[in-house]
Amino acid sequence: MLKTHQCGELRLEHAGQQVTLAGWVHRWRDHAGLVFLDLRDRSGIMQLKVDQASAPQAHALARDVRSEWVIQATGTVVARPAGMVNPDLPTGEVELEVSALTVLNRAKTPPFYINKDENVDETLRMRYRYLDLRRPSMQRNLILRHNVIRFIRNYLSDRGFIEIETPILFKTTPEGARDYLVPSRIHPGKFFALPQSPQQLKQLLMVAGYERYFQIARCFRDEDQRGDRQPEFTQLDLEMSFVEREDVMNLIEDMMIRIVEELTDLELVTRPFPRLSHDEVLRRFGTDKPDLRYGMEIVDLSDIAGASGFRVFADTVAAGNPVRAIAAPGCASYSRKQMDELAALAQSAGAKGLAWMAVEPGEEGPVRSPIAKYFSAEQLQAIVERVGAAPGDLILFAADTAPVVCAVLDTLRRTLASRLGLADPKKIAFCWIIDFPLFEWNADEQRWDPSHHLFTAPMWEDVALLDTDPGKARGQQYDLACNGYEIAGGSIRIHDRAIQEKIFGLIGLDVEDAKQRFGHMLEAFEYGTPPHGGIAPGIDRLVMLLAGEPNIREVIAFPKTQQAADLMAGAPSEVDPQQLAELHICIVDSPRG
Ligand code: ASP
Repeated sequence: MLKTHQCGELRLEHAGQQVTLAGWVHRWRDHAGLVFLDLRDRSGIMQLKVDQASAPQAHALARDVRSEWVIQATGTVVARPAGMVNPDLPTGEVELEVSALTVLNRAKTPPFYINKDENVDETLRMRYRYLDLRRPSMQRNLILRHNVIRFIRNYLSDRGFIEIETPILFKTTPEGARDYLVPSRIHPGKFFALPQSPQQLKQLLMVAGYERYFQIARCFRDEDQRGDRQPEFTQLDLEMSFVEREDVMNLIEDMMIRIVEELTDLELVTRPFPRLSHDEVLRRFGTDKPDLRYGMEIVDLSDIAGASGFRVFADTVAAGNPVRAIAAPGCASYSRKQMDELAALAQSAGAKGLAWMAVEPGEEGPVRSPIAKYFSAEQLQAIVERVGAAPGDLILFAADTAPVVCAVLDTLRRTLASRLGLADPKKIAFCWIIDFPLFEWNADEQRWDPSHHLFTAPMWEDVALLDTDPGKARGQQYDLACNGYEIAGGSIRIHDRAIQEKIFGLIGLDVEDAKQRFGHMLEAFEYGTPPHGGIAPGIDRLVMLLAGEPNIREVIAFPKTQQAADLMAGAPSEVDPQQLAELHICIVDSPRG
């Protein structure tokens, strides 16, 4: 070994010991006859003192070194003189009096500071990711990620699960995104699809009798990028036989609570995790991934608004649509400009305008608002009471079709909560969403789309609805939401060929198509398939929330950019014509050039 100790482990108790350290020069200061070097390795930072008088050779070398050079230093651990102790550093009570120094490798000047927590341009960070990963915040995130995964492996192994790897080169396993395809050299004109999830394979493992499976699985989905998405991502994929919805939910809930408690300092605000029906969560929060760290719940005012003299509201309610509102605490004094910004935000989510009432008791009544004149004093009072607004609060309305009202109030609620500092990064709030509709109507294609995926079972009592009124059938799906993100989705599966075939039919897959794509599943269902179900929490999103980071790129070692590219290696890239020929691929210019 080129070192006897780690930089970050040295303490007063090591004083007097001779040690050898190796790492990167984090900082250096040259004071006439003394050079101070902060030496960094993965464990932390240790101060080296190189004295010209006692170690002239080492001192001469130390004067030459620069940031990020790799060096090895041997010397004696000593207590720092009184007044020189650094209480911010775990090793701050000691330093190394260097007797010998070796430069193991030099470094070019890095394109950004590694020793300062500065905002660095994201493109630069991605281009030099190996330097970015040297920064303490990235190290902390990747170590947390490792700890979360280790925890999960132990937790599940202790409960009878076994980890089984499934192939990456496979056949389409749809989860609602486009597939990444891999051309086959040996089978001209044929392609593998990278799994959007191991869904089919884990179900086949249940047919095979493994009963409890998990995998830290890489999944691939070719879809438009957002802050919390990547073309490839990691999920904890899990499947169990002979279980019902509650069994899977209880297992995951217990595991999540322990992860938060054992690996973080976050305050768990919802315990047990609330279980909200899909209807309820949309009504109260306008989204199926609500942030429960704060209130500002949506309240329905259709009855009052419909009876008012305000035409926009009355007409909306007469057409069978809702009028709903939220109360933003302390925002009654918003300026004209701030109100215009909120209106623009509401419009970006689909609203035609933004009606508001500021709760400021005055002579005319309990509120100040351009639309107050259309309401009786009792109606205004009833509105204020129903939304739970206090003096100083601002009531914001949405009147439209239910999906637009949900989108508008969800957007306003999230934006205001973040502006008002209500989304406390020290808190974590999970909730389950259950009782989803099994299908969503796809008006463009005139067919049903599965809300979750093809293999989710209907509620057993709703099976008959598949023939009569599929839109009313509920699925045995459960999603786990946390701080405004969906972090897991799962379901009890169909284990019966006839029901599975019926679902294929409803989503517009004809028998031949279904056979071609999923024949192996249908066939397997005929060989003694146990009732089974599972779930797949996203590891990247979970670690992002546990680390308090704003996007998943901060918890992935080598992520792609928002444009789905790797800037460091330059991927995707063109390939050799010879390689294309072997794969029987010929590039045709795109019609748009
Ligand atoms: N296959 C699903 C997904 O990847 C999860 C599951 O149903 O277990 O989202």
